[in-house]
Amino acid sequence: PLALTRRPWRLGTLELPHRVLLGSMHTGLEAAGVAVPGAWSAVPDSRALAAFYRERVEGGAALVVTGGLAVDGPGRGGADYAVLTAPGVGEALAEVTAAVHEAGGRIAAQLFHAGRYALFSEVVGESGEPAEAVAPSPVPWRAARGAVPRELTHDDVLATVEHFADAARVAVAAGFDAVEVMASEGYLLNQFCSPLTNLRDDAWGGDPVRRRAFPLAVVRAVRAAVGPGVPVLVRVSGDDLMPGSSTPDDVAALVRELVGTPDEPLADAVNVGVGWHESTVPTVQSAVPHGAWIPVAERVAAAVRTSARPDVPVIASNRFTDLRDVETVLARGTVDAVALARPFLADPAVVAKSLAGRFDLVTTCLGCDQACIDRSLVGERVSCLVNPRAGREVELPLPADGASTFAEQAGSAPSKRGNQAWSVRNPLARRGAEVGRGLAVVGGGPAGLAAAVDVARRGHPVTVFEAREVLGGQLELAARVPGKEDYAAAVAGLTAELDELGADVRLGVRARVEDLVGFDGVVVATGVRPRRLDAGPGGLPGADLPHVVDYETALRDGMPAGSVAIIGGGGVGVDVATFLVEEHDEAARAARFADRFGLELDMALVGAGHGQRWAAPPPARFPTAQPRPGGQVTVLRRSGKIGTGIGVTSRWVVLGALRHAGVQMLTGVSYTRIRPGSLEIVDADGAAREVPADTVVVCAGQEAVTGLAGELDRLGVPCAVVGGARDSRTLDAVRATREGLAAARAL
Ligand code: SF4
Repeated sequence: PLALTRRPWRLGTLELPHRVLLGSMHTGLEAAGVAVPGAWSAVPDSRALAAFYRERVEGGAALVVTGGLAVDGPGRGGADYAVLTAPGVGEALAEVTAAVHEAGGRIAAQLFHAGRYALFSEVVGESGEPAEAVAPSPVPWRAARGAVPRELTHDDVLATVEHFADAARVAVAAGFDAVEVMASEGYLLNQFCSPLTNLRDDAWGGDPVRRRAFPLAVVRAVRAAVGPGVPVLVRVSGDDLMPGSSTPDDVAALVRELVGTPDEPLADAVNVGVGWHESTVPTVQSAVPHGAWIPVAERVAAAVRTSARPDVPVIASNRFTDLRDVETVLARGTVDAVALARPFLADPAVVAKSLAGRFDLVTTCLGCDQACIDRSLVGERVSCLVNPRAGREVELPLPADGASTFAEQAGSAPSKRGNQAWSVRNPLARRGAEVGRGLAVVGGGPAGLAAAVDVARRGHPVTVFEAREVLGGQLELAARVPGKEDYAAAVAGLTAELDELGADVRLGVRARVEDLVGFDGVVVATGVRPRRLDAGPGGLPGADLPHVVDYETALRDGMPAGSVAIIGGGGVGVDVATFLVEEHDEAARAARFADRFGLELDMALVGAGHGQRWAAPPPARFPTAQPRPGGQVTVLRRSGKIGTGIGVTSRWVVLGALRHAGVQMLTGVSYTRIRPGSLEIVDADGAAREVPADTVVVCAGQEAVTGLAGELDRLGVPCAVVGGARDSRTLDAVRATREGLAAARAL
């Protein structure tokens, strides 16, 4: 499989074994080590970072690009960014590069300057003064809460160019195999290129040529600093997705300059990013169609092909979760490689498994951003909803037993060591009977899956009892929501891995206490059930009418045509509304997305998309709930905002889609009565209203499914209650998987 993906290629002087890179991703480990008094940044947590990257190299990454490493103090994105030139940082990073090399991998340092995107609310400078963001011009952005960046002087600009060169030298001395200059996603170099943020009229701004002068000077200086033997990648912004910013012609001209000429070669590869952090077009969320940004990368590739160095490789990024889609893109012959980032968080071995043809075993990234981007935005270290070990590889090691790896079987092993995390044969698993019955996990939702998979990966016997006929719990339910098909893919991957590792999975079995006696420990992950509304005195009259359903029934069975009122506007209520108004077919949804944001998507590519492979079964009772002619969908909430609980990166995207589809959203309401055809409320202004409702869906929270733990305790069976079964106040799958993993390690 993946004949094109597995072709070796050259990135400057580097030979890379295949076409998939681990793209740059801030982990929060970059400055999590020891603070150096008076220095701009703490040093990286080199052990954690080394283990994090090593596991991904062993899982097949052809090249790792680090998270952004700032070239100077003001260049940090926030307090948790390291400054490459600060004392001790290069030395700490040398431990990271050594670990990557020992695992047979290659690693590039990303040279980063946040410019006006620096979030410095709690950051102090070298001599204790509050740090200030700098930029080409004093143009603030909304997340800086009114803070206006200082305009760089001409001398500052020259000094910043030198800082890039100095940082590149530190990187090479620390053993990095390559460097990547960050000129995308709205950071400093990108800010210089744009007329929105570069208002200067000097050598560094005033027209497109002068706006390109700074990134060009930086790439020249970096190239000179590292010499011809070290590859220089440049991450350019293929499209800022900002009205009035650089045009496609501006981008093409920039790219042609950045690759240089045969006499003065500059960039050895062009990595294509897309979208600024303040853009109103989503780029990485699950609602974004797979492969949506290929046309942007192809436009950049076309510019490179018409440059003085047409053979410089072009790397596409963003919205790939499946290597079969990477193969499809490579087959078009336009780009040379693809960079994935979050899929390596979700499954460090995504490449090795795929190269071995074991797509079924991949834990697919959900595109939820809940444990990764949302965390990095608030300065927390990143992890992953479906892989809660991510970022904690040192604290939560997996045994290495030297078992052969998929990569080795596929003949593309970059690694010298086995990777127990995904080895096919797990000798320890077969030893289960000798060491006891192992762990029982009751409930195969996110918490239970996290526990079971971790036990199985460590080679211990595990038995999963799941009352339904499928694993996944709330993830399986969410997979019915358009745009969340990857949830089904992730559950399918974890299910297949449990099977592969010899776990005993009993579907359709509601575990009784007597089934659990004799296990070494029990993880009670029985999850939640929807909370019902009381129709009796003190409750909501009419809540027991036949057209009132809970969210689980609504998502599994569908709803008849007509108007729907959704009681409860948290994440579940928003999911139900999305289920009702969004296209369930991925190609149709991609067309709608393209139309809404004025994009040219390549429908052939998206239509062959990955989501279709995992489409949830159609709703059981009302399979044609789409579209809803004439029906009004209303989401109602007593207090708080609609969509609280959804991560900051995704909330605006899903609410925007609902608004676009005409969904009515009402907050501050109180409910009076449900009647056939309507829901009576008092709205936020105190006015009595009737909301049309042929169906009323109740998304008013959930209650824990409990009952086993007390009895197990009484019988002396060690047990831990995790996830929704432990705390049902909010549905938090990140917390659930973290608790599942913790229980698996503790019992
Ligand atoms: Fe992907 Fe969600 Fe994990 Fe982030 S937290 S890597 S988006 S599954």
